[in-house]
Amino acid sequence: MLDLTYDAPKPKVIAGAKHDWELVIGLEVHAQVATAAKLFSGASTLFGAEPNSNVAFVDAGMPGMLPVINEGCVAQAVRTGLGLKAQINLMSAFDRKNYFYPDLPQGYQISQLYHPIVGEGEVLVEMGNGLARLVRIERIHLEQDAGKSIHDMDPNMSFVDLNRTGVALMEIVSRPDIRGADEAAAYVLKLRQILRYLGTCDGNMQNGNLRADVNVSVCRPGDYEKYQATQDFGHLGTRCEIKNMNSTRFIQAAIDVEARRQIAILEDGGKIVQETRLYDPDKNETRSMRSKEEAHDYRYFPDPDLLPLEIEQAWVDDISASLPELPDDKKARFITDFGLSDYDASVLTADVTNAAFFEQVAQGNDGKLAANWVINELFGRLKKDDKGIDESPISAVRIGQIVALIKSDKISGKIAKDVFDIAYTQDRDPVEIVKTEGMEQVTDTGAIEAAVDEIIAANPAQVEKAKANPKLAGWFVGQVMKATGGKANPAAVNKLVSEKLGL
Ligand code: ADP
Ligand code: MG
Repeated sequence: MLDLTYDAPKPKVIAGAKHDWELVIGLEVHAQVATAAKLFSGASTLFGAEPNSNVAFVDAGMPGMLPVINEGCVAQAVRTGLGLKAQINLMSAFDRKNYFYPDLPQGYQISQLYHPIVGEGEVLVEMGNGLARLVRIERIHLEQDAGKSIHDMDPNMSFVDLNRTGVALMEIVSRPDIRGADEAAAYVLKLRQILRYLGTCDGNMQNGNLRADVNVSVCRPGDYEKYQATQDFGHLGTRCEIKNMNSTRFIQAAIDVEARRQIAILEDGGKIVQETRLYDPDKNETRSMRSKEEAHDYRYFPDPDLLPLEIEQAWVDDISASLPELPDDKKARFITDFGLSDYDASVLTADVTNAAFFEQVAQGNDGKLAANWVINELFGRLKKDDKGIDESPISAVRIGQIVALIKSDKISGKIAKDVFDIAYTQDRDPVEIVKTEGMEQVTDTGAIEAAVDEIIAANPAQVEKAKANPKLAGWFVGQVMKATGGKANPAAVNKLVSEKLGL
């Protein structure tokens, strides 16, 4: 288990206001389910396909077409629920959410309002320095995505691309347990990390595969505690919902400006109107999209085309048994098994592929040294070359060899960087490189001693200076390293130089 203090961060007090205010935030995250086919049709979910090429009759809302549930999507939702330590509902049901929009040919979205497939869960959000917040998940339900209207291709016409219509989304709804803009961003990133570990959503925010509706309200100190004690929303301020955010940077900025807007209204004696707002990154402001009065009446009702969804506990158990090790557990294991710092363990477990790569490097090696080499040398180099870990020109096994060569004193850390560079650029084996290029460290004290003697004999003036000022012994160490082509063992050189100079 990770060694953390829960709920320790103090609620944020907003600067610049007359009074103290605290932020309350709840997120509805829409995560596209990673599956080959859509939620109720066999059409492909491939991103970037020719417009309207991945559309089945049912996605296009053709009369008489019936939806057929994709078992793979259900399994992914269950997997996600289990990964978020949530309650799995063996009985759930689909409802129609009715509204008219050109990118929704059915005239309704199929969703799960009354009986979601996943109930209460939790996400541990680390805030650094061993502090963490437990954000409660209220529910996760499955629903269809809509298509895309295109207004900027023709001055007189709008187009519609239905490739996305009917793709499965998981809507992950949090409780209003998030208390700051930084926490909201950290929560989204943590959720994304877990989904990627589980393989249930690729987490690509740029493509819109993970996006969030951000609910923000402000309250006076003490009010949140009253809400916590009673779970009565009446203690909280009126919220506004900022729609469709797909960048954590914008989420933070939007929360900041929205909180300030609400505080200004309240301090002016005004009231917050519950409404849906949009964030404009260019102007850094949120503006009203629709107020509660204009809100759609979705006329929800159970979808008569779909039977309630019943799943079996044994099936859930099978999925549970196949879950991978999750980020918190992996991080805790890296700290205990490899002796890593909290920071290094976080960096290495941020991405599941990186974590697997590191483990291969660390196999039978010094864990800390392996972590240094993966984080500083490899990640640094890959970043410089704009390459992903899957494209690394040097394998984990080879970095492991370099780490082993350093640990066994065969090469110095400095020479190791040269070995790494050759292995990386020339696709060569580190052990072979050290041998062929004669890079092995000289640990033979006889040879080092000879080099030290020679330099001392040739520089009597420097010897006198060093005897008066021992700091100058470093000059001799440098000369010996130079004479041995950097291959002398630095510890042995230091020791011999001190001895010979009588320091
Ligand atoms: P709706 O269905 O109208 O969107 P929900 O009750 O499902 O309403 O809440 C949606 C989201 O708003 C949830 O994530 C919830 O945590 C959050 N939320 C509810 N009340 C508040 C509040 N006062 N301040 C901030 N967030 C809130
Ligand atoms: Mg909502």
